[in-house]
Amino acid sequence: MIFLDAAATTPVRREVLAAMWPHLSGEFGNPSSHHSLGEAAAAALADARAAAARVLGCRPGEVVFTSGGTEADNLAVKGIALARRAADPRLDRVAISAVEHPAVTESARYLERVHGFAVDVIPVDRHGQVTEDAIAAALRPETAVVSVMYANNEVGTVQPVARLAGLAAAAGVPLHTDAVQAAGWLPLDAKALGVAALSVSGHKLGAPKGCGALVVRGRTRLEPLVHGGGQERGRRSGTGNVAAAVALATALTLAAQDQAGRAARVAALRDGFIAAVLEGVPGAVLTGHPAERLPSVASFCFPGTSGESVLLELERRGVVCSSGSACAAGSDEPSPVLVALGIPAAVAQTAVRFSFDAAITAAELDQAAAAVRGAVGSVRSLGA
Ligand code: PLP
Repeated sequence: MIFLDAAATTPVRREVLAAMWPHLSGEFGNPSSHHSLGEAAAAALADARAAAARVLGCRPGEVVFTSGGTEADNLAVKGIALARRAADPRLDRVAISAVEHPAVTESARYLERVHGFAVDVIPVDRHGQVTEDAIAAALRPETAVVSVMYANNEVGTVQPVARLAGLAAAAGVPLHTDAVQAAGWLPLDAKALGVAALSVSGHKLGAPKGCGALVVRGRTRLEPLVHGGGQERGRRSGTGNVAAAVALATALTLAAQDQAGRAARVAALRDGFIAAVLEGVPGAVLTGHPAERLPSVASFCFPGTSGESVLLELERRGVVCSSGSACAAGSDEPSPVLVALGIPAAVAQTAVRFSFDAAITAAELDQAAAAVRGAVGSVRSLGA
């Protein structure tokens, strides 16, 4: 079986499991307890926070550990919008790009539905990028927060986040970026990117599902969404999950080692795979940006097929991948991301995403490209 669905999730790395284990067994203290077990847990949590901060380009106090990318995105969009509007009632708009993950779009829709915010959707070009003109048009004096993801989970397009964050900062609007897919492939330095907030998730990087973090920089106001004992400096209550924090910090640290070299190696393999698919499958269309894309993602539409049938045929041939976002799997609706890129709905239904981890080899991708040729050919001949 060739696993080409690493953008959906990854297995837990051995080193991550080893780093977590003591905190799930002997060192099981509650980091809020004042005895020695609790203090050991608090020290481990502080070390994890410091290690995560080193990779994320922020101060340890700016890291809020969460239950994953979804919670980090919710906390950023809702937490910043609600806090800023509480301080200034004129700030009643939020802006999001047209290609955000549902964790961002649904947070914005919640603000609209329940709290009366207006939502501005920033269009993308045909490659999925937000242009400087497009963000400038969306940044209004009433905008409380703007959210533009670092890299897209369906087509892999990378946004010019530093430039967009600069424009947002000049307009006085904090920019949040969902860096869940970028983590491990692109530099994650929140300060260098100039963003106000940045989300990451552990399970895309070899940590378990259910751990993540939101970086909230400097004086960015944040209304907590989970209330209770005031953990995470009051920004996210709940007993600190030390093992999860250690796992995330370990995975981030490992992923930061030789990040550029790994990205270059996998990008070269990705380009070979893209060329082989485009050459071998008549009519195949690469979706997303041809160059500004994650090293780990190759995404296509295969007109004349259905994405779901191609996936089944691929699995029969030993290749596991997905039609796009795992969150949208099984939905009959065309992907809003592909529609935002201007791809007709009927073509968007034929999308297939291949996503790689760092261990991918040229031989596996050669085999996968042959499987794609066979699978698409077989679906088309059955449909004819
Ligand atoms: N944002 C993006 C871009 C993602 O790809 C995902 C996961 O699929 C998430 C957010 C949600 O992260 P999690 O699965 O940790 O809740």
